[in-house]
Amino acid sequence: MTFLEALYLSAIFVLVLVSPMTGSFLKCWADRSATGKSVTDGRSFCDNCGKTLAARDLIPILSWIIAGGKSRCCTTPLRWTLLTPEITSLLLAVWAVLTMPLPLLLPTLVIAWLLQAIALLAVPAPRIATILAMILALLGFTLSLLDMTGAVENRLLGFALGLLCATVAWTGASDPRARYLQAATFLPAMGALLGVGFMGLAILVGAALALLHSVVSRIIKRADEAPVPPATSLAIGLAGGTWLTWLYTDAISHAFRFGF
Ligand SMILES: [Zn+2]
Repeated sequence: MTFLEALYLSAIFVLVLVSPMTGSFLKCWADRSATGKSVTDGRSFCDNCGKTLAARDLIPILSWIIAGGKSRCCTTPLRWTLLTPEITSLLLAVWAVLTMPLPLLLPTLVIAWLLQAIALLAVPAPRIATILAMILALLGFTLSLLDMTGAVENRLLGFALGLLCATVAWTGASDPRARYLQAATFLPAMGALLGVGFMGLAILVGAALALLHSVVSRIIKRADEAPVPPATSLAIGLAGGTWLTWLYTDAISHAFRFGF
């Protein structure tokens, strides 16, 4: 094994290991943006009694299991939505390791992180979500130019189409009743990453996942929790559609070539 290969594999190992922490960080960022606070504003505190949390309360997933799903300070049952981003991040990282060829594995882990960040921030911090979507689009172009995915012309066209639709949607999203249109932030990045044809497929899959998310989150929601806004479900659905299409691009094009 060369030094570069060893470095590459270590980077992947570290990214998988810290993935629950990125989920936890993104959730905190999204929650604080929603209440107008900065993600760098002080230490994490208990949502219920306001007590500052100790380091042992902040270990993703493990703290939850050790405390039995209750806060240590005031034994209030913890919200499920605190745990889901951490588990999602870990699942996405493991999924990538099991699915992707080695050269595409590192970019895929970055894509997983960006998709999750954009989905969680699309509603509470739309400007940051848009910046992250542009970074994802750049990554899409770079992978295409490095010959790791399909033709760059197709990706430029996808990006342009996505940008056109997103601009129309953003204009509409200024109406509070059409806030769900903020999820269109994903479209340019989807086009740049997947190209035109697969972008269409990802949007269809994404719409189905958004419906599923909205139904499931209504079922697991506690009575005192606010319902998940449709924009969040749509953003999470589009992230999921992009993820599945990205992971299985080869399998899907293979299936199409042979008429299923
Ligand atoms: Zn407490």
